[in-house]
Formats: sequence, C-alpha cells, structure tokens
Amino acid sequence: MTAPRETSSLFKAMGTESGVKYLAEARALEAKGVDIVHLEIGEPHFGTPQPVIDAGIAALRAGATHYGPPAGIPELRAALARDATHELGVGLTADNVAVLPGSKLVLVAILIAYTDPGDEIMYFEPGFPAYGAVARMLGRTPIAVRLAASDAFRPTREGLERAASSRSRVLVANWPSNPIGTVLRPDDAAMIGDFARERDILVVSDELYRGLEFQPGTSLFAAIGDPARCVLMDGFSKRWAMTGWRLAYAIGSVEIARAIAAVATNTITCATTFSQQAALAVFDGLGAWRAGMHGELQQLRDTAVSLLPAALKADVPEAGLYLFAKAADPDSRALAARLVAAGVATMPGAAFGGDGEGHLRITFSVPEQRLREGMRRLADALP
Ligand code: PLP
Repeated sequence: MTAPRETSSLFKAMGTESGVKYLAEARALEAKGVDIVHLEIGEPHFGTPQPVIDAGIAALRAGATHYGPPAGIPELRAALARDATHELGVGLTADNVAVLPGSKLVLVAILIAYTDPGDEIMYFEPGFPAYGAVARMLGRTPIAVRLAASDAFRPTREGLERAASSRSRVLVANWPSNPIGTVLRPDDAAMIGDFARERDILVVSDELYRGLEFQPGTSLFAAIGDPARCVLMDGFSKRWAMTGWRLAYAIGSVEIARAIAAVATNTITCATTFSQQAALAVFDGLGAWRAGMHGELQQLRDTAVSLLPAALKADVPEAGLYLFAKAADPDSRALAARLVAAGVATMPGAAFGGDGEGHLRITFSVPEQRLREGMRRLADALP
C-alpha cells in the first residue's frame, strides 16, 4: 500500500473551522440515541420560499441542466443589479455582477485576481473563520484586526492602522456580523472607507446577513459607494433561507466582475443553472415572505434573550441569527464540550479568534420549542 501522501505547506497552514472537531462529539452522542439541541448551526431553520422551490423544479423540467455563462445567467445578473441599485443606492448594471456557487469564492477570486503571494489580507476578529483560511491557503499573509470586547466590538482607525503595512492589499469586513450580531454604524463605515481610500486598499464587504437587521445599520458597500473600491460579497443563503442551493454573488466594478468570472471559468465553470433560475423567483412578490421570516426571527431572538441564563451576558443581537454571550468560563472550547455533554451544542467563541474566546455563539434560528429546550439545558448546566 502507498504510504499516506504528505500534504502541502499551504494546505497545512489553511486550518479548519475549529468548531467542527467537537461537533463530531455531538454527532457521536446522537448516534448513541442522546438528544442534542443544536444551537451551533450557521443557517436559518426556515424552509426556502415555496415559489423558489417551484421555480427550481420547473427549471429542471424545462431543461436547465446544462452549463451556463461563467458570470451567471444574464436575467439573474440583471435582477441582482436592479435589486442592489434599489436597496443600496449604488448605480449598477448586470455587468457589475458575477454569480458564484458560494460567497467564499468571492474572496478566493478577489485574492487570486488582485493579490500576490505574501500580500497582506486584513480582516476583523472575532469574525468568520474562512477569511483567514482562504488567505493562508493561497499563500497570502493573514492579518487579524482586533475588535475589542471593551469597545463593544466596534472597529477603530487605530486598530486598522496598527495592523496595516505597505503590503496590505485587501480588507474583509462583515456587518451585520457573524458571530457578534451587530450592525455597522454610519461613522464606522465612513472611517473604514477613509482608511481604505487613503491606503489604496480593496475592501470586500461580506453582507450575507443584510436584510436580517432588527435595528437600522449601514451597508459598507453602500457607504463606500464605489464598486472599484469596495466589492459586495453576498448571496441567497441567509436572507432567503437557501443555504443548500449554493448561490452567491459579487458586485464590483465591471473589471472586477470580469476578473471574478475569469477565475470561475477556470475553477467552478459556473454556478448551478437551475439554482439561478429558481432564485429569480425571490424578485417576484416575496416581500411578505421576507417580512414574515424577519418577524419570526425577531421573536426567536427575544425568546433567546429572555431565557439567557444569568451566567451568560450578552447584548441584544442587532441583526442576524446569533447571540454572542460572554461566559464566566474563559475556555470556550472546554465549556462548549461540557454543554454538548449536557445536551446542547453551541459554538465556542474561540473559533472566531481574538476576543471571541470566553464567549459562546448561540443560534436562535431554530424552532421555538427546541430553542426553549436548548436554553433550559444551558441554564441547568451553568450554575
Ligand atoms: N459569510 C458569512 C459571514 C457567513 O456566516 C457565511 C456562512 O455561514 C458565509 C459567508 C458563507 O455563506 P455561503 O457559502 O452559503 O455563501
């Protein structure tokens, strides 16, 4: 038998989302028949809107089972441009849009197209772990910019300046935030825009949770208002409950959209054709569905906040699917492992880096009775 092959240094450097390991323990317990309430999941529990499902089935029946253009089908690109122009107030056409089967590919393509090995990729921590992993797997240098718990996790110009150097090329920002649950303040958006312009840095604004705000926030893409300076990383996963359809998109300057499509040509070829056809249905009278999901989510958020055990302290989430709670125990991985043994899975804050340690991310987008049961188990397990 051939000996196991040595993996590359970039693969070894990449790392994996560190929540994954102990979730295997939750699955192992479930295989033995133990009931676990899953409050660690990173997706809405809502079903995809029925008109989207119907459109997907109709598209399959009509033969949308072939390759499509690398930048996405023209109708979807045009619809996304119209929608973003309307919602974000930035003038856009279909040529500004590149459709991809997952938003992380926006960052992959941007780094391939606009950075060289050794260039520095900045991103805020605590934050979504994929940003650093993508930078590392491509041989770029990841630079975490600390969001301090003592500053309510708000970005500061000092923090950005301390982290930046002459090799800084890209800054990834994510508001509404996973895992913190905050929206972006207008003055923070202006500060980030000034920083990027003064240092000639390309911003990637991950706005996957836009539309799920419970209080007004600012879109960084809209605030910067220059698609050559700030690329929108977005998708259908969260606000349309379509995680399994694998459909995301980038909006940037025409040149940036073209560069992303060129990377798509050589990697994924194109996003799934029938998923794109199905997604067109969200632009056709689904306002009531969206408002319904939003209302239910807000109620679940309020339920989670009201049932939070005294041992956990959290600000009321301003947006998204998560409550980010400070625990008395400073070791969030050990705490999360203890909680799994008590029948409730949460995400250890350490998985998100920086000041995330000492916190737990608790997903409130779960059916209400399960949420109540999960919060009860948390309260029982935490003295
Ligand atoms: N960005 C953030 C902040 C996320 O939380 C997620 C998923 O959890 C993604 C991007 C990736 O979403 P998708 O791969 O479904 O586009």
